[in-house]
Amino acid sequence: MRVRFAPSPTGHLHVGNARTALFNWLLARGQGGTFILRIEDTDRERSTKESEQAIVDDLRWMGLQWDEGVEVGGNYGPYRQTERLKNYADHAARLIAEGKGYYCFCSAEALDAQRKAQLAASLPPKYAGTCRNMSPADAAVRRANGEPAVIRLRVPDSREVAFTDVVRGLVTFHTDVIGDPVLVRSDGIPAYNFAVVIDDEEMKVTHVIRGEDHISNTPRQILLYEAFGYTPPAFAHLSLVMGPDHAPLSKRHGATSVREFREKGYLPEALVNYLALIGWSPGHNEELLPADELARRFRLENVAHSAGIFDEDKLAWANRHYLKLCAPDRLAQLAEPYLRVRGQIVGALSDAGRAWLEHVLPGMAASVDRLPQLADRLEAVFLEPGAPLENEPGLPEVAAALAAELADGLRLVDKDTFRAVAGRVKDRTRLKGKGLFHPIRVILTGAAEGPELDLIVPAIDRAADLHDAGLAAVASCQERATLAAKMLA
Ligand code: GLU
Repeated sequence: MRVRFAPSPTGHLHVGNARTALFNWLLARGQGGTFILRIEDTDRERSTKESEQAIVDDLRWMGLQWDEGVEVGGNYGPYRQTERLKNYADHAARLIAEGKGYYCFCSAEALDAQRKAQLAASLPPKYAGTCRNMSPADAAVRRANGEPAVIRLRVPDSREVAFTDVVRGLVTFHTDVIGDPVLVRSDGIPAYNFAVVIDDEEMKVTHVIRGEDHISNTPRQILLYEAFGYTPPAFAHLSLVMGPDHAPLSKRHGATSVREFREKGYLPEALVNYLALIGWSPGHNEELLPADELARRFRLENVAHSAGIFDEDKLAWANRHYLKLCAPDRLAQLAEPYLRVRGQIVGALSDAGRAWLEHVLPGMAASVDRLPQLADRLEAVFLEPGAPLENEPGLPEVAAALAAELADGLRLVDKDTFRAVAGRVKDRTRLKGKGLFHPIRVILTGAAEGPELDLIVPAIDRAADLHDAGLAAVASCQERATLAAKMLA
């Protein structure tokens, strides 16, 4: 089995295309096949190197490594269409020689007028076949005179083209609605339908898995396979990824590209797992599974042909799961840029600074959807002490008691120490439960809500004694309590 992902490098990788890449990858990995990455860059106005690089980076970030293709090579390269122009020219020459293709000299204006007349007569627009029966000799003279010409495929009249789509079942088209497609433009650049057939044949692709927006191209491609005498691959057209309103997922729904979801702080394994669940299910009522297990269970036949809805809440749910599984050192690395943006990390992290992050972040990660929210959870740590406090019942007493308990420099570096001190504050103030812990929270974190005190209090005091660790300055619980006691006295 050989499958390919064939993006056009004309922008960022859309999650719908990422899902197409993923389904190809899952199939290849699960069935011991080969996954190919081919760059379809024949649209020279819209294709850019930057976009190709971004797609390559995003696929790598998702962990969808390819076995053959750009950057890694392989036996059937080159894997970038603009480097394969000679193949296309040779194939075009062959079709012309066999009378299966022909030169067309119709100008853009003439074609446009034709289309308008057809639409005005309520006919489906289709090439009228003006140059179809021009003799090769006449065409040769006009070409020799320097007239620009495209090459078209001679589509057989009144025939049915049928194929069994692995996802959608039997699909049939009538050739009478298919105008002779352009194969090669007048500048020698192949059209998508032409290049894709030659490449899939030469790269020995066995299964073409792509978005359903290409389904109407498939009969044209099958006619080309026939014209060359090649056996077509199996086709599987995946339904498009829609927004919650059932319109194709686009900018107005919010984030659409892998890059955007990455920047929003989703982990690659969460995005991969979630995308696999759009229109497919691993079965056994299980949804959160590692990529290799998804691959083991993946069957193209079980992919739904109804449209898949992109649900960011469900992606967030998957992300929470993977954030909890994330190893502390990786979590620290992933969170670092977001903490820097928020001014929580200000310099190069020392080993102690990194150890602090690795100690603190896993607890915080248990209650967030996305990486940037880790910075929200840590806000209390980096709070500037001395912010005005509202005088609520219990606050002055608790502040005074806490300040007294911490006066000798005791640091609340773990849950047990914190609990012991809270117990002594309870004895001193005779406050308990919410009446005790709410004031403690307000005094130490400056807010009425936030992460569990058992997590955030040790995080504060462990950071308070770090110096030149790369972290922003942190006031200790002692400083916080002392200042609050003074302000509330
Ligand atoms: N370059 C095409 C696209 O990005 C590929 C279609 C195909 O897989 O055949 O839509």
